[in-house]
Amino acid sequence: MFLYYQVRTHHYKTEAVPQIICPVCNTGGHLQISIMQKYMWTLGPVAPSSKYAVAFCGHCNQYVPKVKWTDEMDSSFRTLKQDLKTPGRLYRGLLVFPLLIALIVGIAFLFIKTGQQKQENNQVLIKEAISNPRKGDIFQITHTDGTHTYYTYFRVAGSRGDSIYFNPSKVHITDIKKMKEWDEVPLNNDAYEQGQIGFSISQAQAADMFTYVSQPVQYGMVWSLYRNGHLYKKY
Ligand SMILES: [Zn+2]
Repeated sequence: MFLYYQVRTHHYKTEAVPQIICPVCNTGGHLQISIMQKYMWTLGPVAPSSKYAVAFCGHCNQYVPKVKWTDEMDSSFRTLKQDLKTPGRLYRGLLVFPLLIALIVGIAFLFIKTGQQKQENNQVLIKEAISNPRKGDIFQITHTDGTHTYYTYFRVAGSRGDSIYFNPSKVHITDIKKMKEWDEVPLNNDAYEQGQIGFSISQAQAADMFTYVSQPVQYGMVWSLYRNGHLYKKY
């Protein structure tokens, strides 16, 4: 994350110190000392530096360079800054960071929550789609025969009573690297078998998968429903 920052200056006060002779022009009565402090500004003020002083002489119109500062000037700077406390607002930026992080975490949480909600809604929709089969609905299926698993599709051909009939797809994806292709649900008839396989709806609902009447027993697990151009994922 890119953080933009600036160095800014906070001015505390400027006081006349006429009793001090200007070390530049050796004239008294025109010197003033300002107390300043630098701080970093990024999303708010942070990291204030220590306080420092700038001395200006109204007679020679010059800032007194640090090397020319007299002991008198040093001690009056110390006196001037004694009662000055760094205002809390110069640390305000430190509060901004936790707030920003809380905000980011909050947004991420909301996204996860929304995703979960969507999955739950899809699970309800898929359950309903199995209970009330709609011709043309396509389920994304993982088919397991006990030894091998492949990724395929079942297209609803019809239903009768407690039975749901599918045209299983000829597309069998076995390469895990091709998982993205699995989401490209084939729609043309060529991709599906002419023959139909039937399953009990109530059994499928109870087991949450389609159980083949075969030995050894094979299973088809539903991952998502493709309906009207949209893929509703369970997970
Ligand atoms: Zn001067």
